[in-house]
Amino acid sequence: MTEFYGPDFDALSAQDPEIAKLLLSELTRLRNNLQLIASENLTSPAVLAAMGSTLSNKYAEGYPGKRYYGGCEEVDKVEIIGIDRAKELFGAEHANLQPHSGASANVAVYLAFTKPGDTVLAMSLPHGGHLTHGSKVNFSGKWFNIESYGVRSEDELIDYDELRETAKRVKPKMICSGATAYPRLIDFKKIREICDEVGAIMWVDAAHFIGLVAGKAIPSPVPYADVVSFTTHKVLRGPRGGMILSKAEHAAAVDKAVFPGMQGGPVMSAVAAKAVALKECLQPAYQAYAKQVIENAKTLASALEKEGMRAVSGGTDTHLALIDVRSTGVTGKVADDRCGKSGITLNKNAIPYDPETPAVTSGIRVGTPAVTTQGMKTSEMPVIASLISRAIRDGEDEAKAAEIKREVNALTSKFPAYPR
Ligand SMILES: *Cc1c(COP(=O)(O)O)cnc(C)c1O
Repeated sequence: MTEFYGPDFDALSAQDPEIAKLLLSELTRLRNNLQLIASENLTSPAVLAAMGSTLSNKYAEGYPGKRYYGGCEEVDKVEIIGIDRAKELFGAEHANLQPHSGASANVAVYLAFTKPGDTVLAMSLPHGGHLTHGSKVNFSGKWFNIESYGVRSEDELIDYDELRETAKRVKPKMICSGATAYPRLIDFKKIREICDEVGAIMWVDAAHFIGLVAGKAIPSPVPYADVVSFTTHKVLRGPRGGMILSKAEHAAAVDKAVFPGMQGGPVMSAVAAKAVALKECLQPAYQAYAKQVIENAKTLASALEKEGMRAVSGGTDTHLALIDVRSTGVTGKVADDRCGKSGITLNKNAIPYDPETPAVTSGIRVGTPAVTTQGMKTSEMPVIASLISRAIRDGEDEAKAAEIKREVNALTSKFPAYPR
């Protein structure tokens, strides 16, 4: 290391061995288990370095050139570089890098475009919508009149006719598209037409798939939407955080909503790390990565079907698949628990029209962002599908779970997370 810039693991170990030990055991967990949580990824050491930098100390309320604190010369440059990279990467007219998370970015969207009590039309939660799309326990459901649309029972695809009919009937101020567990592409052109028909703001919550857009592997919502919010830590592979892109006409409203609307000082170390991640996304290697993520997810979904489980909507166009596990005779919760004991990290997930409660569910969600970062290709996906299937069917037996875990370790040791 040439200069002190912040992260110093030896210093942490000396001062706080208790926490240092846990950071190392978390790394061991990452390296030994299969990481199939669709919303997780493994950021580069460069992103981690920016995250752990002294920029964490800096108060920078406001925006570059218009701060409420002195000493912002350097962080101003960082934020300007990040904004320029975001605009270039996504072809966006405006970018705000300050939201602390995806949920925070969404609070800012509501604040910029609506008033409490307004009607907002969003994807129903049991069909894959996010908490911030109107859950009764979330501010969105408490303060807004949320109407919802969902997927058809026949093919589990978004029902755009229902969406249009509902939009005409409820006249929403804003229509939200984007979800946490929808494996298919969304027709943004059609949603733009519906928004224009009813005079609604078009908001796309691209948290899950924005990394695939960044890698030019799927169509972008940016040309169509008034505003696009997202997290930076999912397929995009940046630091934990949020971001908002918008048309130039909404730039002032978006910036005011983020600060002073709902946040104080931005986390400038995270803003720097977002800039680092955006530079990575601009490289050809990232585009190859994004395409591989999708190829891997498609192969994994069809391999799971060959193992006798149904992929919701028949497969995927993205980085994730939603798998109906009822054919194995267990619930999503049991499947999740058994996979966990076998060294496979994924999550239980409701499937459309799920007969089970959200705490139990009939499905699991699997995603390929992390294993693809580790270098796995389509040839590893049938191996993973077989491990998942055996874990779900046999994982109740401790000896069998231990054997599956050994095989998981054999696979992950060939593709280590954060190789030395
Ligand atoms: C993950 C996600 C969010 C929330 O992001 P956090 O950073 O966890 O707050 C919001 N919307 C969608 C669609 C998501 O998938």
